[in-house]
Amino acid sequence: MTPKAKKTRILLQAPKGMRDILPEKYRLLQNIYEKTEEIAEFYGFSPIQTPHLERAELFTASLGETSDIIEKQMYILKTRGGDRLALRPEGTAGIMRAYIENGMQNLPQPVMLWYKGSFFRHERPQKGRFREFQQFGLEIINEEKAVAEAAIIRTMVSALEEIGVGPVVVRINSLGDAECKNAYRKELLAYYRKNLSKLCGDCKRRYKTNPLRLLDCKEEQCSAIKEKAPQMVNYLCDPCKRHFKDVLEFLDSSGVNYFLDTHLVRGLDYYSRTVFEIFEDTQPEETDSGDREGSAKTAIAAGGRYDSMAKLLSGKDFPSAGGAIGIDRVAEILNERKIKIKARKKPKVFFIQIGTAAKYKSLEIMEMLRKARVPMSQSIGKDSLKGQLKIAAKLEAPYALILGQKETVENSIIVRDMNSREQETVPIEKVVEIIRKKLASNR
Ligand code: ATP
Ligand code: MG
Repeated sequence: MTPKAKKTRILLQAPKGMRDILPEKYRLLQNIYEKTEEIAEFYGFSPIQTPHLERAELFTASLGETSDIIEKQMYILKTRGGDRLALRPEGTAGIMRAYIENGMQNLPQPVMLWYKGSFFRHERPQKGRFREFQQFGLEIINEEKAVAEAAIIRTMVSALEEIGVGPVVVRINSLGDAECKNAYRKELLAYYRKNLSKLCGDCKRRYKTNPLRLLDCKEEQCSAIKEKAPQMVNYLCDPCKRHFKDVLEFLDSSGVNYFLDTHLVRGLDYYSRTVFEIFEDTQPEETDSGDREGSAKTAIAAGGRYDSMAKLLSGKDFPSAGGAIGIDRVAEILNERKIKIKARKKPKVFFIQIGTAAKYKSLEIMEMLRKARVPMSQSIGKDSLKGQLKIAAKLEAPYALILGQKETVENSIIVRDMNSREQETVPIEKVVEIIRKKLASNR
């Protein structure tokens, strides 16, 4: 290949791990968002949008220097003005910044927010893992009680089930607070010290920098060691124990399907107490063997409590909880299960035009129908009458409007009843009124 051909080929490829969202996929995503938003609003969440770029330090300060995201996944750019900005790798830090910056602590508390959009992580692209991906997230800010994380989990489970990816199962654990986490870390280090030689390269490093993350490793050799590692729940202090019990009681009483995963930790440092991940439940209850090997391998959604984040950023205490649904993964599951997206509102009228003059005129008539809110569809590119009538029949539109050369010149249009195939020619200025009457008497 010549260098020029090579250059052209690269030019015509989206960056690695980033994709175009074509019409069909776009509609699927839109439909998923519509349902999640509706449920979030029902549970009392309000929308927020924060910038796609934030100061890089916002994330370093809150996510932790040794988290995967900070160590290797963040896209950082230097602006002309010399600022170091990052493409947001997650939503929570930006929202906490917005909460503090906009004085939202003066609103009735807690503040419940939902958000959606693109997030960016420089990781190895694979199934369900992209460099630009979409999340729908929820945050409950300034609520220390267990009801916060329970409400986040309940809302996310309802949304996932409503969309059609259910049944789902929640894996849940508690990481304790700063104090009991420390006691546990010591035990963990003692255990892993004995197994150091068997760990993968990353884990040898984690042992030194962030031992809790040893439990997060997905390498097979490390998973085996994890099995026998000490469990955080045995090290929780009394207030943390009580809090966790409250969370589980809330989940029980609201009928959420969950199980305790005593080795679940999450990738980010800002989590304390409750952490959770939501999976497709591939193992219905009747055959439940207790070890839940049947649940799918990649999480659809995840989250937890982040009591220390506000303190890290501002010195103030705003205990909070949140979570995010991976929308790309939801879309993949729907595709795998061949769940069809909700059809767009069925058109009542299909607009057919033949010839160039009619095409121009049709824009004007379509605008009249749009303003009158008549649900309408058309295929402006197609020229043959037969072809367009076929589409109208497929869409099950009860009426077709036909605008040919003759009608364009005479300022008239043909109204065709698609069922009886009866046609009448009417003046263009009367067409809206006539169609409305027909639709009304047809109801
Ligand atoms: P994983 O363990 O799969 O890397 P994570 O812990 O990094 O996930 P979170 O930061 O908690 O993920 O994000 C919440 C959800 O967003 C995940 O459960 C997943 O569904 C989705 N998600 C995370 N990273 C990606 C990605 N690179 N591409 C697509 N979806 C993603
Ligand atoms: Mg990740």
